[in-house]
Amino acid sequence: MALITLAEILDCAEADGYAVGAFNVSDLNQAVAVLRAARAERSPVIVQVIAGMHPYDHEGWWWDRLRELVLSYPDVNAVLHLDHGRSFNDCARAIKHGFTGVMIDASRDIDTDNPATFDDNVALTRRVVSFAHERGVSVEGELGTIGGAEAGTNGIVEEIVFADPDQAAEFVAQTDVDALAIAVGTSHGSVKFTTSEQSRRLRIELIAKIRARIPGTHLVLHGSSSIPAESVRTINCFGGSLTESYGIGIEQKQQGIASGIRKINQGTDSHLAWTAALRETLGRDTVTVEPSTAIGASVRAMSNAVSLRMREFGSAGRI
Ligand SMILES: [Zn+2]
Repeated sequence: MALITLAEILDCAEADGYAVGAFNVSDLNQAVAVLRAARAERSPVIVQVIAGMHPYDHEGWWWDRLRELVLSYPDVNAVLHLDHGRSFNDCARAIKHGFTGVMIDASRDIDTDNPATFDDNVALTRRVVSFAHERGVSVEGELGTIGGAEAGTNGIVEEIVFADPDQAAEFVAQTDVDALAIAVGTSHGSVKFTTSEQSRRLRIELIAKIRARIPGTHLVLHGSSSIPAESVRTINCFGGSLTESYGIGIEQKQQGIASGIRKINQGTDSHLAWTAALRETLGRDTVTVEPSTAIGASVRAMSNAVSLRMREFGSAGRI
C-alpha cells in the first residue's frame, strides 16, 4: 500500500530511530520530484501541501490529482498531508479528498494572528482529532509559536514562544494528537537567521524534555530548512534578491533526531532548489521558449535536494 497514515509512517521511524522528511509541493511537477527521490532512495516520505498554494483553478481538483499521483507510486510508503491547516474546515476538506494526515495549526488566532490561548488551541485541535480519527486519519497539532513567516499566515512572527514540557503533556492528554510540532528555536521561511551563531540555537535539551513527557506522541520540527548558500547564490546570480541568511545545520537536525524528532519539514529547501534551477536554466538559455527543459531542470534539482535530506535523516533504504 503506497498511501499510509502519518501515525503509521512515524511509528516505523520511532521504532528504528530516524526521521521522515516532509516536503511541500505546489504543483504536480514538484510532487513528481519528491516521489522520484523517495523511489530512488527507497525512503518513506511525507508529501504535503498548504491550502491555497497552487496554480490550479480548483483546489479539490488539485488535491484529487495529487492523491492519484501518490497512488501511482505503489512501491513508495507515502503520507498525503495538509500542512498548517488553519481551520476545522481546511482539515475536513483535506480528509474528504483522501489525505491521510492533517495538521491543525491552532497555535494562533485565525483572525488576529496573535498567539491563541492554550484552551482555544486545545478546543479546535480536539475537534479536528475527533473528526479525523473517526475516519482513520492522523493529526498533527502545534504548541508554542515557531518564528519566521509562518506558512499560511499574514506576516512574520518575530517572537518565538517556546513549547513548554508541562503544557505539551497537558495538550496531548486533552487532544489525543498523533504528532506535535514544537517551537524549539527554528524559524519559517527563506530568511531565517542573519548570523551563523543564531542558526545553532536549536534547543536540543528542550526536545528531550518534551519527549520524556509525551513518549507516545511523535515530535515534529518546523522551520528547519538549511537554506543552502549555493542555492541562494545561484538565485541571486540570475536576477534574484534573497537576503543572505543561515538555516538550521544538518548536525543540529541530526541531534534533534537523536533526541526524538520524527518528522522534519523541509519546504523552503526544496523550493530553493527548484527556483535556483529554474532561474539558472532560463538565465543561461535566453532564447528557448518551450518550457520542458527548464521544468525538467527544476524537477531534477528538487529531487536531488530531497534525496540528500532523506539520507541525512536516516530514512533512505528503509523500504
Ligand atoms: Zn510549519
